[in-house]
Amino acid sequence: MTLGFAEIALPVPMRGHFDYLLPEGMVPCIGARVLVPFGRRKLVGIVMRCKSASDMPTDKLRAVETLLDEEAVLSQLFLDWLNWASQYYQHPLGDILFTALPVNLRKGLTQDALQKAWQLTDKGQQCDPQDLKRAAKQQALLIALKPGPQLHQTLSEHYSAAIFRALEEKDLIEAANLAVAAKLDWPEHISLAEQPRPNLEQSLAISAIAHQNETFRCFLLEGVTGSGKTEVYLQAIEPLLRQGKQVLILVPEIGLTPQTVRRFQLRFGLDVGILHSGLTDNERMQVWRQARSGELGIVIGTRSAIFTPMKSPGMIIVDEEHDGSYKQQDGWRYHARDMAVVRARLENIPLLLGSATPSLESLNNALTGKYQHLLLRQRAGQAKPVQHKLLDLKGQQLEFGLTRGMRQRIQAHLQQGNQVMLFINRRGYAPALICHQCGFVEECHSCDRSYTLHRSLNKLQCHHCSDAKPIPHACAQCGASPMQPVGMGTEQLEQGIASLFPGYQAARIDSDSARGKQKLHQLLEDINQGKHQLLIGTQILAKGHHFPNVSLVVILDVDGALFSADYRAAEKLAQLITQVAGRAGRAHIQGELWLQTHHPSHPLLQDLLNNGYQHFARLALKERRFAALPPFSYQALFRAESNHAAQAHDFLLQVRQLLSPGPEMAAIGPIPALMEKRQGRYRMQLLLQSQQRTGIQQQLNRLMGQIEKLPLANKVRWSLDMDPQDF
Ligand code: ADP
Ligand code: ZN
Repeated sequence: MTLGFAEIALPVPMRGHFDYLLPEGMVPCIGARVLVPFGRRKLVGIVMRCKSASDMPTDKLRAVETLLDEEAVLSQLFLDWLNWASQYYQHPLGDILFTALPVNLRKGLTQDALQKAWQLTDKGQQCDPQDLKRAAKQQALLIALKPGPQLHQTLSEHYSAAIFRALEEKDLIEAANLAVAAKLDWPEHISLAEQPRPNLEQSLAISAIAHQNETFRCFLLEGVTGSGKTEVYLQAIEPLLRQGKQVLILVPEIGLTPQTVRRFQLRFGLDVGILHSGLTDNERMQVWRQARSGELGIVIGTRSAIFTPMKSPGMIIVDEEHDGSYKQQDGWRYHARDMAVVRARLENIPLLLGSATPSLESLNNALTGKYQHLLLRQRAGQAKPVQHKLLDLKGQQLEFGLTRGMRQRIQAHLQQGNQVMLFINRRGYAPALICHQCGFVEECHSCDRSYTLHRSLNKLQCHHCSDAKPIPHACAQCGASPMQPVGMGTEQLEQGIASLFPGYQAARIDSDSARGKQKLHQLLEDINQGKHQLLIGTQILAKGHHFPNVSLVVILDVDGALFSADYRAAEKLAQLITQVAGRAGRAHIQGELWLQTHHPSHPLLQDLLNNGYQHFARLALKERRFAALPPFSYQALFRAESNHAAQAHDFLLQVRQLLSPGPEMAAIGPIPALMEKRQGRYRMQLLLQSQQRTGIQQQLNRLMGQIEKLPLANKVRWSLDMDPQDF
């Protein structure tokens, strides 16, 4: 029987595979890339299956043009893993497969092209670079090749074809083939640096992992900042590395944590593969290849590094597992931590999740015994604990969100030569309406939840039952007017700060100002050298970096999170506060952390400050259970945006009608998104919620095809987000 047909996955926004004819003699591997005609274009596709017949009439089928790989670029295990993801996230497989591949492979570069390399000839080895001093580029290339062969792909970023030709004609360089056997002897070269003796809790954690490091098992390592989690990672992976097993470590933000990477390098004396958004496509490709061939013992990377293949996988570690950056926020909205759980299960290796402030999802899994819970309660270092204080904003005169007392306090810290950090919590962007005199917040009576202010609609809306009412002119409790929304943007604050504290330099760190690794790096460098005295930022400031000279931290708008319609806002705020407190004034300065609020006696706030995150998180979990919110229920969010508010609304209404919500699946909406208008487009949402994951999955499996075919589906921009993190 000849397998004359192939099912090909293509990176197009359509579900299902496409049948193609296989030309005589072409026998592709499953998971290999091919080039196929598609409409008028040529697309790179992945072979999913070869078969002897097709349901399509043969004369309608087109033929595969080129087979790009001898070997699969996606292993069967990866295909299974990504297939699962396609089902789970209700996202087209083709797009998922291509997300998981390095750009060079997506573009269809052949293995030959990717492996083309240059090396010095004997003559080139003996050539004194000085002889080429009149041709600076040629000289540079010669010097670059002195240590050994290099990939053409990488070199061609710096040298033009003419340079290669010139040196080749002088017989100084020649083509080399890097398809030589991978160097797998790194385990023999591990040279262990001196390491601290683990304390009791660390020892317990390390041995618990060591006892179960051969099969799938999830561990949650919950330990306050500075309690020695990284040390546990280091000691837990040592035995695996010695057996030649590879370790993949995910971190939220590499630009902020170069010291973590260095610690892994120094501890084992091994090369560490690093993957983050600042790399070129070729650099990324190189790490991918080395990890896949088994040449790298350790790979550290941000979210998309979860797709790094490993020849001999030993363990996956997700550091700061609660961090929001693990969730992809557009296109295929996967969660790298959740993808890691499924991958570890398929690879049959342990997964280690670490955090000072675990997500409620992971904490729940640990408390119910699904994950093994490892606790570190003591701080390993000798940093002084930070003092927390609450500042009641009610009736106070504010300038740029700061009271007079706070402005004086900031001035005092600056005069002592210390740095001050000001945080704005962006979560819960469209906030509740709060009375500045008495702190009253307007609540929905059926849900006991605060209404969310929607300025452009000119109304208050409950995001839990979609009830709406007009914006009140005065406070229903004390009669004061007007009511005010909480919150302010970073830019606005930056401008205000400059006028409030002349003579001091302010630096703003948010995802806009910190774009690009060089820029962020420079900014952090400047901060640590004291060029800036005032640091203004969002969550990104709290990620893994240490600011030893910060003595005062102010969180400006706690209420925005306490009364947000986004039920995760309080959890995120608690994580922020705890992470910041763990990092400010580490060395010798006594740090102070101030929280500004209209509700100093709010129970969650009180619990967090008096009993710490661990206690808070357990209380918050009880609340979630009571309210049947995740992780005690499951959610999916349809988003739609359009220049015409009615179109976005009508599309979601039709989706809702198709889905026919009932007892096994509730639907809330369509209602405006928290940020109801962005760049001139109206944004609406429809939330699905169910006690069982299958409640949502079954309906979507059945109906996604129909939803995609709705006439409005082509008119509005829409997406589906499983386990949404942002509302
Ligand atoms: P975390 O990852 O929890 O923030 P680290 O592993 O970075 O904590 O540890 C914080 C500091 O304490 C580091 O400087 C580390 O070298 C040190 N440390 C960790 N464990 C020990 C230990 N058992 N004895 C002495 N110092 C330790
Ligand atoms: Zn309500």
